[in-house]
Amino acid sequence: MTNSNSLEKNAPNSRQKFIGAHVSAAGGVDQAPMRAREIGANAFALFTKNQRQWAAKPLEPKTISAFKANCKMLGFGAEHILPHDSYLINLGAPEEEKLEKSRAAFIDEMERCNQLGLTLLNFHPGSHLKKISESDCLARIAESINIAHRAVPEVIAVIENTSGQGTNLGWKFEHLAEIIDQVEDKTRVGVCLDTCHTFTAGYDLRTKEACEATFAEFDRIVGMHYLRAMHINDSKAEFASRVDRHHSLGQGEIGWACFEYIASDSRFDNMPLILETIDSSIWKEEIQQLRMYHHTSVNAE
Ligand SMILES: [Zn+2]
Ligand SMILES: [Zn+2]
Repeated sequence: MTNSNSLEKNAPNSRQKFIGAHVSAAGGVDQAPMRAREIGANAFALFTKNQRQWAAKPLEPKTISAFKANCKMLGFGAEHILPHDSYLINLGAPEEEKLEKSRAAFIDEMERCNQLGLTLLNFHPGSHLKKISESDCLARIAESINIAHRAVPEVIAVIENTSGQGTNLGWKFEHLAEIIDQVEDKTRVGVCLDTCHTFTAGYDLRTKEACEATFAEFDRIVGMHYLRAMHINDSKAEFASRVDRHHSLGQGEIGWACFEYIASDSRFDNMPLILETIDSSIWKEEIQQLRMYHHTSVNAE
């Protein structure tokens, strides 16, 4: 695949960990790579527009070129940058008007990614709002992805699993599989597993054995080859509580065994591992700690 628009790809044989955080894009998306560098990250997430508003002015050509130049200068490749879409979008919305609005906004988000040379777009699947069935909602989400694929080339739709708060779908691995099953272009759909959401949805991650079992379950129902990214968060809320409250690593209900497991397992190499933990002043230390576990495992081999 030749792709002159995308940012540079890293050498395929370089097995390593790409760890970062969801950094601010205040002052322009071109500022995000510098903020990621400051915390010692080699991956990052960002919003390409205000996440709480529907409309955004188009990205300016000078912002696009500055973003690409900064990524290149600091060594960030497209496959390690994970843009996140607006919280307002519901790709499984029961009402036609909201669904149309969401689909148009999602296409705009995907277009912005494409303009920035980015190839991943992370989003929350959608909510049925108790007005349609789960399977109807999941079908609408899949169709929304198909529509976006037809409108914008190259960008991969990366479905994030949820805690299952309210009427949000995507908390069961079966939901993710049911969406993917109805996506026409399987090469452009993937999954981002958030450790906090996974845990509060009812998949245990508190011990190495629990992690083995949870990821084996994910592999069986969805397939590890669809895993494109991870959100690395501890949880303030209890196991299986269906509540989404992030915590700093090791300070919540999950604990370090999970993060050590991910940092030292090669199945999580070469994909963005993104912190959305609550205290950004310790992101640098959290990243260092994760890297230490990675090196521990390499040395042990
Ligand atoms: Zn997340
Ligand atoms: Zn969350």
